[in-house]
Amino acid sequence: MSFRNIMTSIALSAVAGVASASAVPAPTAEPFPYVADRFVDIEVLRYPVPDFESLSPQQRLLVYYLTEAALTGRDILWDQNNRYNLALRNLLEDIYTDYKGDRNSAEFKAFHTYLKQVWFANGIHHHYSMDKFVPEFSRDWFNAAVASLPASKRPANLSEITELIFNPSVMPKRVNQAEGEDLILTSANNMYEGVTQAEVENYFNALKDTTDVSPISYGLNTRVAKIDGKVVEQPYKVGGVYSKAIERIVANLRKACAYAENPSQLAVIQKLIEFYETGNLRDFDEYSILWVGDTDSRVDFINGFIESYGDPLGMTGSWESIVNFKDLGASHRTEVVSSNAQWFEDHSPVDPRFRKPNVKGVTAKVITAAILAGDSYPATPIGINLPNANWIRAAHGSKSVTLENITRAYDEASHGNGFNEEFVDDAAMRDLMDKYLFDTDNLHTDLHECLGHASGRLLPGVDPDALKAHGSTLEEARADLFALYYLGDPKLIELGLLDNPDAYKAQYYKQMLNGLMTQLMRIEPGKDVEEAHMRNRKLIAEWCLDKGAADNVMELVKVNGKTYLRINDYEKLRGLFGALLAEIQRIKSEGDYEAGRDLVETYAVKVDPALHQEVLDRYATLDIAPYRGFVNPAYTLVTDDKGNPVDAKISYGEDYTDQMLRYSKDYNTLSR
Ligand code: ZN
Repeated sequence: MSFRNIMTSIALSAVAGVASASAVPAPTAEPFPYVADRFVDIEVLRYPVPDFESLSPQQRLLVYYLTEAALTGRDILWDQNNRYNLALRNLLEDIYTDYKGDRNSAEFKAFHTYLKQVWFANGIHHHYSMDKFVPEFSRDWFNAAVASLPASKRPANLSEITELIFNPSVMPKRVNQAEGEDLILTSANNMYEGVTQAEVENYFNALKDTTDVSPISYGLNTRVAKIDGKVVEQPYKVGGVYSKAIERIVANLRKACAYAENPSQLAVIQKLIEFYETGNLRDFDEYSILWVGDTDSRVDFINGFIESYGDPLGMTGSWESIVNFKDLGASHRTEVVSSNAQWFEDHSPVDPRFRKPNVKGVTAKVITAAILAGDSYPATPIGINLPNANWIRAAHGSKSVTLENITRAYDEASHGNGFNEEFVDDAAMRDLMDKYLFDTDNLHTDLHECLGHASGRLLPGVDPDALKAHGSTLEEARADLFALYYLGDPKLIELGLLDNPDAYKAQYYKQMLNGLMTQLMRIEPGKDVEEAHMRNRKLIAEWCLDKGAADNVMELVKVNGKTYLRINDYEKLRGLFGALLAEIQRIKSEGDYEAGRDLVETYAVKVDPALHQEVLDRYATLDIAPYRGFVNPAYTLVTDDKGNPVDAKISYGEDYTDQMLRYSKDYNTLSR
């Protein structure tokens, strides 16, 4: 398990206020229709793609074919998440489309909501909590709806699917991270078949050559199964697992080649095609190196098996794609950050032995997302830092991006939701948040992605996977602490990135409030905090509350029965961030598993039930969705009278249900 680069959206956006210097250029004179749907704990938004029209027709055609290659991979992720997901989706969509009964009945509405949840999660388990959805319609209603379908639409494994929907004990969790359990046997994902955690670990331990200075990302593109009593890897590739989907991805990538902006971009696309054809992870590494090196192109994309949050062992990548192009104006900010990378590394509060003497090739840019797909859809990251392979990052650097049309859509859609009024009882702080949070959020993301993850080094011989199941939480904490520490540094004023020496306090306040309290709105009563980014935020906030107690650095106080955060000394809080950064960097650099585990288990997991309930109650009065995601714009090809592609057009306004049904029809590669 290496770097973990997805930042979650809601925590950054929930408190975001108004006020930012530049506004999204509206695609029409009408206000942009941000909100597309709202159900249970989800709000679905739309996002504008400003400046799409400023691309050349050739660039727009490149974007078009890359978006086709992105959408074509959808079924892969559904199947990776659970082996019943595709059959389940077909069945639910057939019922939804064919249902002849009362479509206004409570049962049908509950069914539609359930289908919306399944769509949002790319399967039957919640995208964030990993818990299986609980249907609010009855088994009898469902059985009758299925019975009214033509026989050809009733799947062969109907009884298994019905049990999966209605029996809570069947495959309850997609990714189980509970310490001490067999994480593979207790996880419902589809990356392993008939193998135990010990068998998988033994298999990869035997494969790994610890002296290899450029190791492949073991298991990244394979399903691990037991065949004739032997543990084997089955690669995702043309001619292998998911061949039909991958062939169509490749066909679209080939079409994209014709519109590549320059030879280095063309080489990236061609190498990716080669990787999909061979399934050889050495090809993937070569592709990653070419991709990092392609910094001059306006259009960029990721497409493949990238992040491994969906695997309890953190090895297999979930399929995803994002197509984007550079936001030329906003990229100035990240260029300033990354061109000063060495200064930040040299002044970081960690032991000099763990610093990088030469921070290489940290590139950063602000991008405009054109399509979100696979594991980045509908819930999406707002910042990406890739590639994940440690040795490639060390030798060739990494690319770090902020998806600013996405963060801005979150911000725009959050105005006036009452959040700050409920949880922040200090009017001056609310003001500061309104004025600066959009900017400090963006800066935090830049610092986290292009400096935080890229900083530091392992001591020679330390296994990059030494922190095991806690590696991702600690890696996110390391990146967040690096960002938090420097947000309060006068260097940012000197560099012209902030214009108010108090602006950072808005970010400190928001992050501590989120880590201690407000992110709990996303946890069900009685449950632990499990997701790596949430654990990271809780770890940082709880550790600082604890270690700063003697100096009263910050405290939780009760006013009229409600808990509020007071930060009494921002300077000292910054010092605590530095101290924890130094310790977590030591843990990572030395591979000190026990110390890392103790930090996580002590501060990041267990929830105070009374405070938790209070947060849920206060949140419930606001009707703010804890999670948000997006529908994509639609792209259409423009052809000349001979049918040759000459341009691509963008349109907005598609409904969430319509988009999901369209994708299932047009990009169905594995399920029918
Ligand atoms: Zn991260």
